[in-house]
Amino acid sequence: MSVDTSISVDEIRKEFPVLHQQVNGKPLIYFDNAATSQTPECVTNALIHYYQNDNANIHRGIHTLAERATTAFEETRKAAQRFINAGEAEEIIFTKGTTEGINLVAQAYGRKFLKAGDEIIISGMEHHSNIVPWQLLCEQTGANLKVIPVQPSGEILLEDFDRLLTDKTKLVSVVYISNSLGTVNPVAEIIAKAHAAGAVTMVDGAQAAPHHQIDVQALDCDFLAFSGHKMYGPTGVGVLYGKRALLERMDPYQGGGEMIREVTFEKTTYNDIPYKFEAGTPNIADVVAFKAAIEFIEGIGFEFLHQQEMALLQRGKERLYSIDGFTPIGTAAHKTSVISFLIDGVHPFDLGMLLDARGIAVRTGHHCTQPLMDHFQIEGTVRASFAVYNTVEEIDTFAEALSEIVKKFRS
Ligand code: PMP
Repeated sequence: MSVDTSISVDEIRKEFPVLHQQVNGKPLIYFDNAATSQTPECVTNALIHYYQNDNANIHRGIHTLAERATTAFEETRKAAQRFINAGEAEEIIFTKGTTEGINLVAQAYGRKFLKAGDEIIISGMEHHSNIVPWQLLCEQTGANLKVIPVQPSGEILLEDFDRLLTDKTKLVSVVYISNSLGTVNPVAEIIAKAHAAGAVTMVDGAQAAPHHQIDVQALDCDFLAFSGHKMYGPTGVGVLYGKRALLERMDPYQGGGEMIREVTFEKTTYNDIPYKFEAGTPNIADVVAFKAAIEFIEGIGFEFLHQQEMALLQRGKERLYSIDGFTPIGTAAHKTSVISFLIDGVHPFDLGMLLDARGIAVRTGHHCTQPLMDHFQIEGTVRASFAVYNTVEEIDTFAEALSEIVKKFRS
């Protein structure tokens, strides 16, 4: 596929009202996209349209609004299926985000199928949400957690994974793209090796969904989780993909309305997938609006997204790496549009505050990857993460602001 040349960043920016504001007297430069990206008008319009026209509880009602709401909700399921190329819409479970998706797998799959002495492998660059659910599972089952070490470049080596993988390995859960470093991990190879060893695989796709074409059938992952708010969508909605055969064998995650077939005080039978895992009234409005975010990305296309983000990354490297005392954290050969860094002698929090005073939003701290920060023996970093609506001019303004701040610190 080729890049759609009719698309321009200027046009894309027009769809994001939030970007056109002054912060602390300066035009906003939003470089905190890996935490939460901004939402285009098509998404907020979908949300408003839903509340102003179709709002009703889903699946249970026979009146017109309930039917409309149900149809819109299920349309998003189909859009999500298409987005990650899942084989069936029933393999798409709505969650409130990646965190809930991983917890669901840990509890509904792990608690049922893992036992004392079994092993779970993760990598050293995981977000806390792909660490703590497995630690909880280990406490509950007596399983053990193993960690693929991270290289100074912020990459993992398949040889290291090979060494950890044994017949005790029952589950492998790795991040597709690191939120702290931008590293793109070789997940397809990891999945193939894990399957050959008889383990089930989970991919944390939180950072991959907005940047990479995900194809769950080509990857052959058993589970994949991602969040709407990192891919131009609303907060409070995410997707867990799971292979039908596994989802059907799993226990429900939560009990309540919607996830049942029949309830008596003696015995309850469960609904089919995906409803078995969607207890209670879901976040209907945000799920409905999430479809607009998926279509927004599809409309731009991953070729354009990739080209734009790589141009921003390249410019960022050219302009930032020469700043006095600049140390990049995470220099993997294959990485996405994230620049994590430190400046000698200046605390990341001070940098974050001084940049904010100039209207520039970056993230500072451990980025919910404390073990990774410990590995690098640092408290945290400053992270600038770029989205499709960011411009080369913004990077230049950022680089100039950072240079000035550093000069002032040194003088
Ligand atoms: N994994 C990664 C790699 C992330 O970047 C994040 C969000 N920072 C999460 C998991 C958790 O996502 P959420 O907070 O949307 O559940």
